[in-house]
Amino acid sequence: MAHFFDPADPYSKHYGSGAGEKPGKLPSSGNLPVGLWASDDVTISSLVVKPAPADAARISLNAGAAGYADAPGVRFYTLVATTRGEACTIEARLGEGGPVQASMPVAWEPRQDVMDRAWDDHIRAVQQTLTILRKLQADINSGMADDAARSAFGTLAGVPPLDTVTVVNSQPGNPRNIAVISRYLRVSSDIKSPEFRNALKKLIEHLERNLAMPKSLRDAGLSGICSPTEPWNAANGVPFARSDKGLAPKKTHLCDTFFNAPNDRVRRDVITHELFHLFGPEYTDHSVHNTAEAFTNPHTVASIVNRLVDRTAQAAADGTDPDLTPLPSP
Ligand SMILES: [Zn+2]
Repeated sequence: MAHFFDPADPYSKHYGSGAGEKPGKLPSSGNLPVGLWASDDVTISSLVVKPAPADAARISLNAGAAGYADAPGVRFYTLVATTRGEACTIEARLGEGGPVQASMPVAWEPRQDVMDRAWDDHIRAVQQTLTILRKLQADINSGMADDAARSAFGTLAGVPPLDTVTVVNSQPGNPRNIAVISRYLRVSSDIKSPEFRNALKKLIEHLERNLAMPKSLRDAGLSGICSPTEPWNAANGVPFARSDKGLAPKKTHLCDTFFNAPNDRVRRDVITHELFHLFGPEYTDHSVHNTAEAFTNPHTVASIVNRLVDRTAQAAADGTDPDLTPLPSP
């Protein structure tokens, strides 16, 4: 007896085509971790796991899966797609060419699901960022009110005076939050300065507007504005996506590159970025030398969301754009 299973849900998600089983779903990355269970260790060590003969060119298997360790009667594999879009089957046979003990159909995750998940991840990330920023703003406001009270009435004898900067920085996460805002929006890190506080206020308004944008996504593949022969794309490569108020039927067209991106965090950040392009004609992919240019650069504000939500990130989700001076973390 043997069966394939989802390592993230080993007891209830069995892969297969039998009752109560489901096909494996390859994510856009083309890599799928899979577990194989057998009734005993002798059986499992005699199982040969391979693509079905007709599918040998479509997929390959690596031994092991990140985050999972083999155990008695259990082996892990990582399926690696070698052609995109095509379904295939994985088999475990008793000995090379022997009878099939377990088989698992593998299909690609529907692109609509990939788009929907990226959108939902984006919404969650912007909401989470707003919670962080509103908390920071409240910390600063209450600290400054206390400062004002102290300077009006003096501090109690023997009680060490605490100022806003000390209090706010002692809140978990605030050193990173302040560093991200100061660095990406090019403002002083003095949280009491009007410069910092105005930038924080404007950032919150900016993200509230982003969060209110309607969902308007289209899987454009390699057509239209995503075509490799489109002049800008021919010179620079096909981007993840393009957005324009004038695009129809949807305002954001997602290219093949979006679906093939290395991970879901990249796709999440692409959505946040693209929505800023729809704010107006000045929201272009320009260089940034000052605060005003930072606010109209979609990459800058999307990077703030990325760094505040991914508390240990020191680069963009695709590994580019490293923080040369590391940010405080978490
Ligand atoms: Zn852009």
